[in-house]
Amino acid sequence: MARDRSPKCKKCRREGVKLFLKGERCLTEKCAIERRSYPPGEHGRGRIKQSEYLLQLREKQKARRFYGVLEKQFRNYYKQAARQSGITGDRLLQLLELRLDNVVYRLGFASSRAQARQIIRHGHFQVNGRRVNIASFRLRRDDIVSLKPQSPAEQVVRDATDLTASVPAWLEADHDNLSARVLKAPERAEIDAPIEEQLIVELYSK
Ligand code: SF4
Repeated sequence: MARDRSPKCKKCRREGVKLFLKGERCLTEKCAIERRSYPPGEHGRGRIKQSEYLLQLREKQKARRFYGVLEKQFRNYYKQAARQSGITGDRLLQLLELRLDNVVYRLGFASSRAQARQIIRHGHFQVNGRRVNIASFRLRRDDIVSLKPQSPAEQVVRDATDLTASVPAWLEADHDNLSARVLKAPERAEIDAPIEEQLIVELYSK
């Protein structure tokens, strides 16, 4: 399976915004973007000629990196969103939000989406009582997400819940029993993501 193993902090510095890819470290003063808030590379501090295309491209890359999705998969999400009724940008973010790895992270059961993906791949989570080890698994309304009973990952998951201040209103989390329910698909206003999805739609609809 293809994976993006490039340095995480460089991705934030390239996009010029904290993407929270490294869990607890992102909340500390060790965060690379706090220390070096300019793009990586030899010409990082030089002037870059902005163009409409560059803005759209960067927004798409930012969204991909935020959700940890590879190029081909991201384009497929866009195609699915474009086929649905409603605003394509909203539908795109909704599809990304309903991924199991994102939901596990949003619930506070992992300190980053990367950690959520790892715990899921190792088979520690269940959806409606059945083991699911696919990070991109799409959740639906009323689905129950829970940690497998006697899972060795329990302490890691409990440690992550300690870092979590709040859970989005479209999810209901029980941090004591490490289970949760999807109340509904999120509306755009309920999605906390530093993304201007309209720019992505403009890029792909060229
Ligand atoms: Fe991004 Fe986290 Fe690295 Fe900061 S510590 S640059 S938020 S991945």
